[in-house]
Amino acid sequence: MAWYPGATKMELQPESDAQDAIKPTQFIVHSLAAPWTAKRTFEYWRDSTNLESHFGLGYGGDLAQFIGTETRADANASANRRADGTGAVSIETASNLGATDPWTAEQVEQLILLGVWAHQKHGIPLRLCRTAEDPGYGWHAQYAAWNPNAHACPGPARIKQFKEIVFPGIVARASGQSPEEDDMPTAAEVAKAVLTYDGVILVPGAPATNPTWTLSSVQTEILKRIDMVRTAEAAQTAAITALAGQLGKNVDTAAVVAAVQQAIADAVVKVSVDVTGAETKES
Ligand SMILES: [Zn+2]
Repeated sequence: MAWYPGATKMELQPESDAQDAIKPTQFIVHSLAAPWTAKRTFEYWRDSTNLESHFGLGYGGDLAQFIGTETRADANASANRRADGTGAVSIETASNLGATDPWTAEQVEQLILLGVWAHQKHGIPLRLCRTAEDPGYGWHAQYAAWNPNAHACPGPARIKQFKEIVFPGIVARASGQSPEEDDMPTAAEVAKAVLTYDGVILVPGAPATNPTWTLSSVQTEILKRIDMVRTAEAAQTAAITALAGQLGKNVDTAAVVAAVQQAIADAVVKVSVDVTGAETKES
């Protein structure tokens, strides 16, 4: 007996205890041809028929499990349980009466999550079933052996969704290839990479990379280094201005040197005061 943690457990008795065990090798989706919640579907299985699926899924994404996935459920004819003990995990999904509408976004998301679980829990291979017995993922109308009454279930719109969105979504999530699960660097990792990139912000004498840096301490460090660069730049600008002031005059070398040194000293003091003031204001 295996129960999916993402579903509300609504156990059907006596079927849950009485029906044979299976080894789940397939995952088959259905449309209910009724716009029912998962709970209403449970009540129908319980009160009105001997048939049942393992799962029921409402339009709003409400998902219930009626029988453990290692017990036979009777929704897909020969795929329910084969002579070798293998069988299909089945889900009925709310639809309009003709089963012609597409799944809602909530239903699609739940189908993907459940499909991933079926792969992880039971090792159902990430492929569409190639025959009626082949382990994998499929839809009710896919094979006559699953669907002797030739229902269109789950309907053309949903078969298209299954092929184009649901099944690829299961494969991507189960393989860790979806954009949400990409191995993207964190903001802190990006900041550290920028900070330690040799030659751009790395200032001579500034500390090397520090493994204990957090995002905020890295940001502070970057601002500190920008201030250092600004200080040096201001000093150079002041020196150039002082030199320019000496041109065209009767040049006294010692006076030029003194003027340059004084200009640099003044600029550094001035910028240091500005930086300190700015830091005080921000903190
Ligand atoms: Zn069906």
